[in-house]
Amino acid sequence: MNNPAAVYRGDGHFEIVDQPVAAPGPGEVRLEIAFCGICGTDLHAYLGHMDARIGDQRVFGHEMAGTVVEVGEGVDGYRCGDRVVVRPLDNCGDCPACNNGHAHICHNLKFMGIDTDGAFKRFWTVPAKLLHALPDNLSLAAAALVEPTAVAAHDVRRARLKAGECALVIGGGPIGTLIALTAKAEGADVILSEINSTRIRMANAMGLEAVNPLETDVVALINERTGNKGADVVFEVSGSQPGVDLMTEVAATRGRIVMVAIHANRPLVDMFRFFWRELELIGARVYEPEDFDRALELLGSGAIDVDAIITDKQPLERIGDAFASLTGNAEALKTLITITQGE
Ligand SMILES: [Zn+2]
Ligand SMILES: [Zn+2]
Repeated sequence: MNNPAAVYRGDGHFEIVDQPVAAPGPGEVRLEIAFCGICGTDLHAYLGHMDARIGDQRVFGHEMAGTVVEVGEGVDGYRCGDRVVVRPLDNCGDCPACNNGHAHICHNLKFMGIDTDGAFKRFWTVPAKLLHALPDNLSLAAAALVEPTAVAAHDVRRARLKAGECALVIGGGPIGTLIALTAKAEGADVILSEINSTRIRMANAMGLEAVNPLETDVVALINERTGNKGADVVFEVSGSQPGVDLMTEVAATRGRIVMVAIHANRPLVDMFRFFWRELELIGARVYEPEDFDRALELLGSGAIDVDAIITDKQPLERIGDAFASLTGNAEALKTLITITQGE
């Protein structure tokens, strides 16, 4: 097959199809994908929670790294052989969000790899304006983690987190772990709250302080650390009611709470604490170009070593098994699909 692509047919089933290769139009490049990670969103789609949005012909994949192999007319700054990642946001360019500098959360946003075809295939043709070049020392496998790290960088930036502040991250999946590592790189005092012992062990191995809220009283721990002040910043990444209960209970006076998790059901929120401590609740969704720049800096400089987060690699032909083995598996963090073997 010249251009194998994993097409999602619905019902937990992928079909590997040889797709026609799309030549890049003006302003576009054709990439050869080396690695593409499986995101929590991909898993949601796989589990049938997004059927109406996805259909039965979609190619998922947005946590990718690859190489430019063909350059369209009028593309400046990129050449064949350049190693890149893609910021997978296709905005409309003319809506209240786009017109006010918030193109990343455009009212008509198409998320590439969900609303349009993504990178679980050999060749992907995309607008060059979405590319970010990789530093020389960053491997293509590690670079597949740039996109989720950009999510973390955006969350930390939205929190206005400063060095020396106390931050609590609730939920130690891939994004929670990356937020904790990013917050630590900013010089914050970080505690990660996670209920799965394997994830706690992995976080500890990455140099994070991780505790189990079922065994440790997290509010008491943070009060003890901060002289009863509480956490300056709380990241809610668990998507659970106990996480939402903890976030208001643990936040300091004028503490900032960043809502990272996608809550499928409306949780009960203790609004009294917002009044009592003048708390601030901050929404955070995807990322802006500067968050990709920051993620590339964090990974390229070695400030964050993502190798420990990559818990599995599988070839494209085994993508169905890779998704199946991630389902309900809290022992795994990030699975990469190897598409073509990059260096
Ligand atoms: Zn993702
Ligand atoms: Zn727009």
